[in-house]
Amino acid sequence: MANVFKLEELPGPIAVVTFDTLEKKVNTLGHAVLEELGRLAAQLEKRSDLKGLLLRSGKPGQFIAGADLNELGALVYLPKDQVKAALLEGHQLFDRISNLPFPTVSLIDGPCMGGGTELSLAMDERIASDSPKTRIGLPEVTIGLIPGWGGTQRLPRCVGLNFAIEMICSGEPVTPQKAAAIGLVFDVVPADRLVDEGRRLVEYLQTSGEWKKGRERRRQPLGMTEDQMRFAFACAEGQIKLKTKGQPSASLIALKSLQGGVNLPLDEGLAVERKVADEVIGSENSANLIGIFFMNTALGRDRGVADERVQPRSVRRTGVLGSGLMGAGIATAHARSGIPCAMVDVTDERLADGMSRARKVVESRIEIGRASPADMVQLLSFLSTSTSSSLFADCDVVVEAITENEKLKTQAYRDLANVMRDDAILATNTSTISITRMAQAAKRPERFVGMHFFFPVDRMQLVEVIRGEKTSDETVVTIVELARKLRKTPIVCNDCAGFLVNRILMPYMNEAILLLLEGASMDQIDRAATRFGFPMGPIALHDLVGLDTAFYAGKVMAAAYADRTVETPLLGKLVQTGRLGKKSGAGFRKFVGKQGTPTADPAFALFLEECRTASRTITDEEVEDRLLLAMLMEAVRTLEEDIVREPMHVDMGLILGIGFPPFRGGLLRWCDNVGAGRILERAEKYASLGKRFEPTAEFKAMAQSGKKFYPIPKLGR
Ligand code: NAD
Repeated sequence: MANVFKLEELPGPIAVVTFDTLEKKVNTLGHAVLEELGRLAAQLEKRSDLKGLLLRSGKPGQFIAGADLNELGALVYLPKDQVKAALLEGHQLFDRISNLPFPTVSLIDGPCMGGGTELSLAMDERIASDSPKTRIGLPEVTIGLIPGWGGTQRLPRCVGLNFAIEMICSGEPVTPQKAAAIGLVFDVVPADRLVDEGRRLVEYLQTSGEWKKGRERRRQPLGMTEDQMRFAFACAEGQIKLKTKGQPSASLIALKSLQGGVNLPLDEGLAVERKVADEVIGSENSANLIGIFFMNTALGRDRGVADERVQPRSVRRTGVLGSGLMGAGIATAHARSGIPCAMVDVTDERLADGMSRARKVVESRIEIGRASPADMVQLLSFLSTSTSSSLFADCDVVVEAITENEKLKTQAYRDLANVMRDDAILATNTSTISITRMAQAAKRPERFVGMHFFFPVDRMQLVEVIRGEKTSDETVVTIVELARKLRKTPIVCNDCAGFLVNRILMPYMNEAILLLLEGASMDQIDRAATRFGFPMGPIALHDLVGLDTAFYAGKVMAAAYADRTVETPLLGKLVQTGRLGKKSGAGFRKFVGKQGTPTADPAFALFLEECRTASRTITDEEVEDRLLLAMLMEAVRTLEEDIVREPMHVDMGLILGIGFPPFRGGLLRWCDNVGAGRILERAEKYASLGKRFEPTAEFKAMAQSGKKFYPIPKLGR
């Protein structure tokens, strides 16, 4: 028995049920908890003497976080009929609660999410605390699910169709004030007044008879006209499709449940919800997205070193060397997070460019209402600039972001040694140069580390923290903590060419070029990637990041992984003639008009003809296989070489760094889902193309033993 509900009585008599999973930080609705709630409901149904019931949490500022995600994630391993039965049990339980023989009020203090909101909606009324932690939401779609315990039917009957669509399809929670404005809660009061106000509300509902009238109202269809329905759902569907660009979307499924059920009596609407929910509950996509939720949580706690005693140094001031594309972005991130930052470059003009880039970041946020003029004031007061590195004398960390040239960088390190404090950390934003090798030029190699941000810095969440052979644990944890202060997600990896993300990305990019030269078309290649779920295809990505950047990075990778990299002359030729991609107006495609729309370019055909190796028909299946398998085989090697410590580092690195489709759960989880054995069969077909498709011995053994990168979670029932 879960032992999480305590029943007390106040004069009236009014029952007060306190929900508290003592051994956990938050209350969740797992199988055992629901069983206990069922027994409690059975007991309460017989209490005709009660005048009302209040439900509250025993954890101040923590109401109900929702269903138990461990159990939801494990549903994918249960037979379909068991999943269906679980859904029905939930509906029956919430139905009983909604029919208790007295008025019921939920007292919400702290986050009230998913199943917690559905439980509260099954009650007659809700009061929320005015605590800044209180939020009410149905975030199911963000993990590939839909509200499946009545949320899609009870919410519209409570707040109206439009607000319900907004809350359910965005998954965004609302503040208590908004909840009160839309009628989701009756009132907002200080947390310590919740029980008293709850009692008053119960008494009012009882004496006015409003609780019975309310129940009767909510059992009815919403009563929308056909035109109203058509308009509301067409708008919502259009918006969702615009955002998801054809990718699988639980929001569209939620919409189906709303559309099918709101104009029916409640019990029939609930039956529609069960039927629709069946499409997503226990699906692979939702298990993948739940997996990402857990990986994100684990990454948020990952310090990147094994020794728990190592403490980060405090970072009060920072410096950035170089005010170019990356330097200005990195300095902006520090200033926006309230860390004073000095930006140094070789000329005042470059610094002025850097400052204008910094201002642009905040200006564009002000334009969309995500920042205020006060944020601009903060940015400008926390950023200082100079052409002299003497500004770095009192910095705890300096991030070097100058031109990608080893000689220039190592000379800069020697110069910085005369300025920086001995205990300060020097981090480099290099994308390709060895950290271990460059550390030799730093005065203190143990305080030298890679801190690899991605472009554009203000929008990309990932930061690779790369330890060289001599980098100390203290340096690593300090940079990890600094990255978190910048609201980034740091992933610690060991030094190798390409580090984590680019090492795995480059084989995919190169494979796209090889496919093109063998006869696949650009559109076919890009379509295969977007169909899999990537935000754009590898050819389009080349044009976006710049062909020169890809060419240079490709050279470094080809030198480091010569046994499995096939070099082609195509990128070199394009770069030589100034076709650098979008930034120069043409690359693989040409970019036309004010918007720079990518368009087929007949001039490109000449380059293609010159470099073509074959002209055969290539199937879509082969394109997808080769793009993904080239990546996967490299990812496996990265893991085996201990470049990262766990599969989640590979998967989250690719999701955050290159937009690997989250609904696939990550590259290694995709491999788990397909099955390593099946992957081996697919790779076998391309064995003659080279070593890049050759699985490692460890991977073969894994496939034979049936092991997975992620062990199957324990089933909750
Ligand atoms: P950039 O050319 O835009 O900027 C480089 C800046 O460094 C220029 O303003 C230049 O004047 C300045 N500089 C050069 N030598 C200097 C010195 N000795 N002292 C002070 N300033 C000096 O380059 P970028 O794109 O910002 O790249 C910077 C670094 O970040 C490189 O190591 C690059 O590999 C890495 N990086 C770039 C990207 C990207 O997408 N652009 C992504 C990740 C990492």
